[in-house]
Amino acid sequence: MLEVYRFIFNPFQENSYVLIDETKTCAIVDPGNYNEDENTRIKSFIIENGLNPKMILLTHGHFDHICGVNFLVETFNLPVYAHAEAEKMISSAPEHAAAFDISFAQLPVINYKIEDGEELSIGNSKLSVTHLPGHSEGSVFYYSEPNKIAVVGDILFNGSIGRTDLQGGNLDDLLGGIHTKLLTLPEDTQVFPGHGPETTIGIEAKTNPFLNDEI
Ligand SMILES: [Zn+2]
Ligand SMILES: [Zn+2]
Repeated sequence: MLEVYRFIFNPFQENSYVLIDETKTCAIVDPGNYNEDENTRIKSFIIENGLNPKMILLTHGHFDHICGVNFLVETFNLPVYAHAEAEKMISSAPEHAAAFDISFAQLPVINYKIEDGEELSIGNSKLSVTHLPGHSEGSVFYYSEPNKIAVVGDILFNGSIGRTDLQGGNLDDLLGGIHTKLLTLPEDTQVFPGHGPETTIGIEAKTNPFLNDEI
């Protein structure tokens, strides 16, 4: 079983998730910790709970989702997993972040390039990777069928969808991908978005105004 723990980090109120298996192995998804206080909070959480962090998983390359990568790599010596097409955005993240006073001492490095359909292990648990661009190039979501959880980054939100007006955005790709790859998951799948509260596939399929022409 995977347990999901959420931190809300940085001025963008970004959700960073720690996915914890019963063996206490964990993966950190989209670490957005950006100052000393937030670095300490996530580090202490991992140490005090006796967790064994295995990897950093990125849903996409926007700076508010990756500004904590360097600190966690230095602290826990973790490999960074992301889709190859997210690399361009990651390399321009420090430049975009500077406008918001968020600094990167160095460029985060992708150590392992994940692909659509790939399966990853966290302890005894498995997560599948689905490529779903449209918000950003190389966007993916992580899905565990037995745990009925999907960690979706900025693809889908509670009552909204990711913006498509940024570099590499495409509304048709995003909506098409949400309909064919996310809304086809079981209705009771819990959805953990990159910002804001969690939701379920069923709730979004029925009530999300961006996905329902009738509403
Ligand atoms: Zn984003
Ligand atoms: Zn975001």
